Amino acid sequence: MVDSEKEALTVTFYSGGYAKTIVRIIMLPLVPLLLVLACDSPDGSLLQVPRLPCSPLQLWDGTAFLVVLGWCLLQCALYLLPTGTVAEGTPLNSGKRLKYNLNGVQAYLASMGLVALAYAAGLDLTIVPERYLQLLVSAILLGAIVSLLLYIKSFSAPITELVPEGNTGRVISDYYMGRELNPKIGNLDLKFVFMMRVGFLSWGPIHACMLAWAIKMWGYPPLPLILITIFHVTYTADLVLEEDFDLTTRESISTGLGYAVVCGELTWVPFVYIIQAYFLLRHPQPLSWPGAAAIAALFFIGFWIYRSSNAEKNGFRKNPNHPDYAHLQKISTKHGKSLLVSGWWGWLRHPNYLGDIIMAVAWALPCGVSHLAPYVYLLFCITILVERDAVDEEDCRRKYGPSWLEYCRRVKYRIVPYVY
Ligand code: NDP
Repeated sequence: MVDSEKEALTVTFYSGGYAKTIVRIIMLPLVPLLLVLACDSPDGSLLQVPRLPCSPLQLWDGTAFLVVLGWCLLQCALYLLPTGTVAEGTPLNSGKRLKYNLNGVQAYLASMGLVALAYAAGLDLTIVPERYLQLLVSAILLGAIVSLLLYIKSFSAPITELVPEGNTGRVISDYYMGRELNPKIGNLDLKFVFMMRVGFLSWGPIHACMLAWAIKMWGYPPLPLILITIFHVTYTADLVLEEDFDLTTRESISTGLGYAVVCGELTWVPFVYIIQAYFLLRHPQPLSWPGAAAIAALFFIGFWIYRSSNAEKNGFRKNPNHPDYAHLQKISTKHGKSLLVSGWWGWLRHPNYLGDIIMAVAWALPCGVSHLAPYVYLLFCITILVERDAVDEEDCRRKYGPSWLEYCRRVKYRIVPYVY
């Protein structure tokens, strides 16, 4: 290939990449905005043009901005408290191993305790569902500002701390991807706090505020809302109990901290993943006790598959010689690591993704089947996990070569038995 051809290919590749980045920068805040506006509309439909507030000024609320900012600062402060355990992360490309404060359980309990104290002191928690749109706008604004500060800060970081995908020299791409891998302020690991705390730990307090609103309006919390609260709190409680697993994820090891992560955690995690609760306040739905029992059973089946399969793989990776894994069949690889070919990982190549998808179905069902808005997270969950599965397959094929092909021959299905 001559140089001009190479250059043309490069330009085309980056033009496509650049356009995609711009689309993502716009879609990241736009999807949650459309979703909240759809829930606010009288018919709750996503398929109609959203009704904007009469004046753009109504989108801004100083108190809402202070709530979002205060929440982020609280999570930073709780992370720094000398509680929990200190763990070392996976060795990075630079050879460094970072230290993390694993005190998510304490942070979650403290956050919930503060909400309970506020309620007992007479503070009106219904501000959260009442100013949901303004809270989202504040989260978008704060996400954009924090990402800009991180972008500026990254220029004082050593070159070894930068991520190649976030260090292309294209301002918008780098702002989106994040230039620095692990920006820190003293002992405060900003990426860990954004990925594990700011978004996910908000679920308990947000649900408490939704329940307070329902009690104020109707005198009791409706069954579908109670069910969804139990599901979401179970999911996040598990996340903080097992938060050391985050240290081995792809995001932890190789993704920079930029607009994608910061805005994603500030907007999608609290406003898209758990939109079903807000939808139910605006559009109450009937649910019978047998229906609730069936949905709860579905959720706990999904949770069991998700939790047990993750525990099996993570436990095996930590200590392959543990007697718990002696009965499982394995294939050895040239890396020294083995692949499980029986148990959960002998049933499917991604049983944990199946569990996650089943739970997402159970989160939407209490909202009935008349509206699309509560199902947006389910659609997103399926899309992202299918995409992750494809990337992971490619990585494992490259890493494990013939052993991976043998694994795929023995375990035929990726996420859904006999379907996919
Ligand atoms: P996984 O936990 O599925 O890990 C994949 C890795 O596991 C592979 O790269 C390989 O790594 C190892 N592995 C694969 N097959 C085997 C086997 N047979 N035996 C032993 N090890 C194997 O990846 P994710 O980080 O994508 O997911 C973690 C969790 O987070 C999942 O439960 C997922 O559902 C959830 N998640 C949810 C999202 C959502 O929006 N709801 C988004 C993203 C993740 P190696 O060999 O190097 O150890």
